[in-house]
Amino acid sequence: MSTSILSAEDAADIAELLREAVLLPHDGSKLQTKNGIIWVTCSDGDKILDFLEHVLNIIREGNGRLRPHIFTEHGGAMVIAEDFPLYPLFRVAELMLAKIEDGHIMKNMDTVILMIHAPCSAAEKAHLNVIQELAYLIRGKRRIQEGMPNLDVACFIHVQDAEGNKVVHYVSSFAFEAWYKKRLERTPALKPTHAETHEHS
Ligand SMILES: [Zn+2]
Repeated sequence: MSTSILSAEDAADIAELLREAVLLPHDGSKLQTKNGIIWVTCSDGDKILDFLEHVLNIIREGNGRLRPHIFTEHGGAMVIAEDFPLYPLFRVAELMLAKIEDGHIMKNMDTVILMIHAPCSAAEKAHLNVIQELAYLIRGKRRIQEGMPNLDVACFIHVQDAEGNKVVHYVSSFAFEAWYKKRLERTPALKPTHAETHEHS
């Protein structure tokens, strides 16, 4: 699949989310990173090194330990949401949750960084815009918190704009949930139906 370019619609939504303080500058000093972090990210071979650089910078901001325990999947942290539409024949979410729990136990790491990115080929394959990506991301976070309330979970999105500029934003979960509720009232069609992607399930 070709490397896609951020759509004008996604760029406009990201600008709105920045104005609404749903997306914020990252500040690694607010994260507990002294013992490293568990990191869930998209596999994207064109971008993974840039993702890693940003994550290492976030750890550096908090004088943490550069010890990223990495789990990759197409779509990154979106796969943890129970209804993520890719690979419906496989229990990707359950596997990821089990790996996070084992990483926490085996490596004594209490902080999980969940990352998605835009544009993302996996999101494109699943016909998701950036708002839907964020909705899966936050639902994934809530799922981890339900099962493993002792973990700190922080969400981030890596954005590459049409000019090629790359930036990582922190995603405020509560701010997103409040904003998304209002946005769904405005645009009910945003709610994914999965009609096309569940044909094999
Ligand atoms: Zn991706």
